[in-house]
Amino acid sequence: MLEVNGENDTICAISTPAGRSAIGIVRVSGTNAFSIVQPLFKRKGRLTDFRTQTVHYSEIQDPHGKEVIDQGIFLVMKGPGSYTGEDLVEIQSHGNPVGLKRILSALVKEGARLAGPGEFTRRAFLSGRMDLAQAEAVMEVISSEGERHYQWALSQLKGTLSDKVNDLRKKLLSSLAEIEASIDFSEDGISSGSQKALLAGFNTINEEVKMLLSGYESGRQIREGFTVVIVGRPNVGKSSLMNALLKEDRAIVTSFPGTTRDLLKEWLVLDGITIRLVDTAGYRETDHPIEVEGVLRAETAEKEADLRIWVLDASEALAKEDKRLDERLKRRKKILVLNKIDLPGILNEKGLEKEASEDPLVKVSTLTGEGIPDLLETIKRSLLPLANKERPLVALVRHRDVLERVHEGLERAIHAAQENNPSEFIAVDLRDAIDALGEVVGETTTEDIMDEIFSKFCIGK
Ligand code: GDP
Repeated sequence: MLEVNGENDTICAISTPAGRSAIGIVRVSGTNAFSIVQPLFKRKGRLTDFRTQTVHYSEIQDPHGKEVIDQGIFLVMKGPGSYTGEDLVEIQSHGNPVGLKRILSALVKEGARLAGPGEFTRRAFLSGRMDLAQAEAVMEVISSEGERHYQWALSQLKGTLSDKVNDLRKKLLSSLAEIEASIDFSEDGISSGSQKALLAGFNTINEEVKMLLSGYESGRQIREGFTVVIVGRPNVGKSSLMNALLKEDRAIVTSFPGTTRDLLKEWLVLDGITIRLVDTAGYRETDHPIEVEGVLRAETAEKEADLRIWVLDASEALAKEDKRLDERLKRRKKILVLNKIDLPGILNEKGLEKEASEDPLVKVSTLTGEGIPDLLETIKRSLLPLANKERPLVALVRHRDVLERVHEGLERAIHAAQENNPSEFIAVDLRDAIDALGEVVGETTTEDIMDEIFSKFCIGK
């Protein structure tokens, strides 16, 4: 039996999603994991005697009535070499909620406690199996949408950001040691030669922190996807186009219908690029307060979008509202879509020459589906240049905020060194920067921050 984290209770949870599936997994972790699971293991043999990382088939029994709940396999993982660093058992049974809940309640009767969100990963962090940035990456791996986000999350899990942060922290710690030595042992403080070298070191590290911060925008884009807004006056076919695009793309991952009253958002993934597609309310002048609000929201969404799809009705002449929209959309990144080409045409490329000479134009019919693959390709081509080839290290708001504090601390330290301030002053600023760096990987993190991070996890992870 191994006890880590200073906690000796044993936690359990169903780790597979709610509903029916081929298999379901119940996880048990903690000091008493083996003795708690043992009575459910119908076969002969003691879990504690099994070698670690071994699999054992058995009927799963209710310890009290001795009734068989299900059949399954027991994965035995001994601490500290398990995911949580503690003794851990995974029971894999049929993925039926009735059976899984019976297993769970039998475990609770034997003395386990139901785990809170992310508690297994929290224990993994506390036992030193991973640092905080990696623990956050576990959640990113699970929740990522699209190949780019997934690959980014995996590299964070491997520790790319952690390695960088640890390296910077180590360098700053060695500078701090030098400064502190000069405070303790030298009456004259740091020699001017050492001061120069220290300053050069601070500047280099500060530049590296700035580089990390500058990657945040593209990191955020990887996580949240590009926003593509469909605009156009009422009845040109915006909603029909949204549906046609989503139907064509087989990789729809999430659906949030009716997120707001007037802006409908859906996610789609094009060749690994996650796109948040937003359908705006009809753009027209109105006095009605609800519609005014809708138009305002549509305008904000349109303004902040990475790309606009401006839909026009090919079967009608340009209307006053189209012209006004044209004014608004000038110099913004967009694709023109001439919809309803199945109808006798009135509007064509020529009629649009003035409106959008440099923007790509695609002719479609949402009714017949003609042109939709072409439009998806055009969307992809428009967004690809925005998709940074390099994988940024920083994409989480928490990391950005902490690194901004690192940057501020370094700026102050640099200033203090340039002004020949006493070493004590430089040391204080340096320590701020070092502590903030430690927050990224969880070396210096408060309970509150940890609670906030792990509360976003799912139960069972
Ligand atoms: P929105 O107000 O811009 O969202 O427009 P809708 O998507 O609601 O479409 C308005 C009307 O145009 C509906 O009656 C649609 O059936 C029709 N419509 C949309 N796309 C096409 C198309 O490609 N061809 C034809 N003939 N009708 C279309």
